[in-house]
Amino acid sequence: MKVLVTGGAGYIGSHTVRRLLEEGHEVVVIDNLEKGHRTSLDQGVNFYKGDIRDSAFLNTVLDKESGIEGCIHFAAYSQVGESMEKPIKYYDNNVSGSVNLIKFLLLHGIKKIVFSSTAAVYGEPEEIPIKENSAVCPVNTYGETKLSVESLIRRSGSAYGFKYVILRYFNACGAHPNGDIGEDHDPETHLIPLVLKAAGSRKKDVTIFGTDYDTEDGTCIRDYIHVMDLADAHIKALLYLAKGSKSQTINLGLGRGFSVREIIDSAKRVTGRDIKVIEGKRRKGDPAVLVASNEKAREILSWEPYYTEIDSIMETAWKWHKGHPKGYNETIKDYLSNFF
Ligand code: UDP
Repeated sequence: MKVLVTGGAGYIGSHTVRRLLEEGHEVVVIDNLEKGHRTSLDQGVNFYKGDIRDSAFLNTVLDKESGIEGCIHFAAYSQVGESMEKPIKYYDNNVSGSVNLIKFLLLHGIKKIVFSSTAAVYGEPEEIPIKENSAVCPVNTYGETKLSVESLIRRSGSAYGFKYVILRYFNACGAHPNGDIGEDHDPETHLIPLVLKAAGSRKKDVTIFGTDYDTEDGTCIRDYIHVMDLADAHIKALLYLAKGSKSQTINLGLGRGFSVREIIDSAKRVTGRDIKVIEGKRRKGDPAVLVASNEKAREILSWEPYYTEIDSIMETAWKWHKGHPKGYNETIKDYLSNFF
């Protein structure tokens, strides 16, 4: 299948592109490289640097790349804290960008989309595990922008015969088992990479955001889902749409939660290193527990997570981190230091 991937040079995008290629699909990537990394993409990808808000750019790419059957849409800003400080930036890229993209997909006859949404649409959950029909009520701008695009896609579905699968992910983590692509955000705010940075350097530590939650060990519980399992789900969703099946909204999570302390303990086991931990204050807007129900993904997409143990997830993240302590920006000297 020929697939357009927006934001294909980002964390989840690049792993999905890798898996699409591994499965023999033809891949066209567009990414403005503001957050993405060109080096995360394999040869064999038709890559176009540009922005989904740029109509002329989209038109040129879609004119040139005929025969695209579906789009996996990742391109978006994704930092919760920044989204609260810069809502216009987030609405502009995430919402206006998606309006423009969908307009041009329709103009070019591309009527299947898999959309990268988030558990942040649920806000403070009313029930655990969270089901797809649980109430949506985002508590930050990032979640709100994703929910707005969900509505846009559903409305476009009804109005223009557009078919979609909306995927709401929980905590994406891990790296390709080869260790050559992985998570590299700037700034890094996510727990697992920060814990591994602390494991990798005696000078660094990690702060636990709150130890007084109503959970067994007092720290927040999250559902950590491996990025390659997410990648598989995107491809299964596209193949599901290709069969002519009906549009869906589906959670992607392990269906099981780990506390912040359990994550740190796993990192200690996997790295064999001590990790300096500071017990800090709660971070604003963090619910105590977020765990997905993944029944629908299993039933509708015949999807099943491969990485079900936290240590095996951590091992892939550590392999990437050890080989690329500075992410994609490592110098030749850093690279050589892996061998000598
Ligand atoms: N967290 C933490 N220290 C950090 C970063 C995160 O204790 O330096 C906690 C955070 O409060 C949350 C969990 O780790 O409970 C996962 O946070 P992350 O930012 O990775 O993902 P989020 O759940 O916000 O999407």
